[in-house]
Amino acid sequence: MNTSAKKKVSVATVWLDGCSGCHMSLLDIDERLLELAASIEIVYGPFVDTKVFPEQVDLTLVEGSVSSEDDLAKIKKVREHTRVLVAMGDCAVTGNVPSLRNPFGTDKILRHIYLPNAPTEIVPRLLPSVLPVHQVVPVDIYLPGCPPSADVLYTALVELLAGRTPDMKDVTRFGK
Ligand code: SF4
Repeated sequence: MNTSAKKKVSVATVWLDGCSGCHMSLLDIDERLLELAASIEIVYGPFVDTKVFPEQVDLTLVEGSVSSEDDLAKIKKVREHTRVLVAMGDCAVTGNVPSLRNPFGTDKILRHIYLPNAPTEIVPRLLPSVLPVHQVVPVDIYLPGCPPSADVLYTALVELLAGRTPDMKDVTRFGK
């Protein structure tokens, strides 16, 4: 991803079935966000007010697993309009916490939570199983951790902005 051109790299962040902890970790990059801001423009996600995913995004970080029909439609659209897709955090990478419902089946879970009747509208219809992102669309980069630390996210972003594939094998969720 070449940042030598004047145009900033467009970056989106997407929140599927996750706790927002991965987005909080992004914010924990703290003052280094100012450094990144010189090279990137956040064009979509919880940090900005854009309601529609842009036509073409250079880099999208996805938090959370694919748990509902809404998640499914969203990640397919995001993939279609994204050059480099990053699975950010264990929920996106493996299914993690949301996938704990998988052994019980959707009906049982809904009945348990919404006794006596599960909602039939407003609440997005759940998929039969929670899926990690790569089981739905191709993923380019995986950043595991629950959440990945701010150092991991920062290092990965710096590498991607420099046009390199981040080699995260020496970086743990606890930092560099
Ligand atoms: Fe939350 Fe962890 Fe999932 Fe990130 S990976 S959304 S911190 S549960």
